Amino acid sequence: AIEEVEDAPEDLKPRAPIVTVMGHVDHGKTSLLDYVREANVIAGESGGITQHIGAYGVTLGDGQKITFLDTPGHEAFTAMRARGAQVTDIAVIVIAADDDIMPQTKEAISHAQAAGVPMVFAINKIDRPTANPDKIKEGLANMNLLVEDWGGKIQSHDISAKTGDGVKELLEKVLLEAELLELKANPDKLASGTVVEAFLDKGRGYVSTILVQAGTLQIGDYVLAGTHSGKVKAMYDERGKEIQKVGPAAPVSILGLDGAPQAGDKFNVLADEREAKQIASKRAQLFREQSVRTQRH
Ligand code: GDP
Repeated sequence: AIEEVEDAPEDLKPRAPIVTVMGHVDHGKTSLLDYVREANVIAGESGGITQHIGAYGVTLGDGQKITFLDTPGHEAFTAMRARGAQVTDIAVIVIAADDDIMPQTKEAISHAQAAGVPMVFAINKIDRPTANPDKIKEGLANMNLLVEDWGGKIQSHDISAKTGDGVKELLEKVLLEAELLELKANPDKLASGTVVEAFLDKGRGYVSTILVQAGTLQIGDYVLAGTHSGKVKAMYDERGKEIQKVGPAAPVSILGLDGAPQAGDKFNVLADEREAKQIASKRAQLFREQSVRTQRH
């Protein structure tokens, strides 16, 4: 069965924060995620081809890590929440300094607040001559969101996702926020976590990107994810580098599932393959019955 045993405090080890980037369309979410990913690849050891796997980890100068969900916008965030997955530890809200606080910015803020996820504001596009970061901070203050410059407690940093100006400091503030959360997980057990995305690759079969949130996932483990299951045949990091095992809170692409689970599905490693298959098919059957029922109504 799926074990949900509470961890002893001494088994809990610090883990990287998982960050989602949200904000209004065109305010620079994708640019920020791309800048961070590319800067990290250049600084990184293997520097190979980066694959878009839906999530990636960055290591800052002092070895501290941040895991980014690489799906900008709050669709992914809400889709995951709708499936009961609480994945995000910190929300980075990107606001263009040459624009206003727009409807989707407000939506992103309410999503983060509803989920109880702390926010860090990235006031973006400060390289633009018309940028007015103070106007944005004033707008936030009018929404009862006081950033540090305005005497409040919410972290914010002025950045340019284009030139990279301020991005390092923004990430440092994300880490500061993460420190307050004292994020921990037990790496010494069968892995569990959440599916970020999955697709069918012509040559390799089903590829699923998952976030390991507890335990350690290894080649050969039997995974149950939503209505699918399978033995992990191979694992790759966001650089496309083959890896043998992965602990919390890192993203990884795995091969071996018999289908594509949905974003936000939980995954668990089970001790025995038959059981994983049984639960997956039972779930698939329930799922089919449910959709028949909803079609009738
Ligand atoms: P998203 O819709 O929030 O993901 O926004 P994008 O990252 O796609 O950016 C929208 C547009 O703004 C693109 O043309 C970017 O090149 C541009 N952009 C994003 N960040 C900056 C920035 O810091 N400075 C400038 N000048 N342009 C930016």
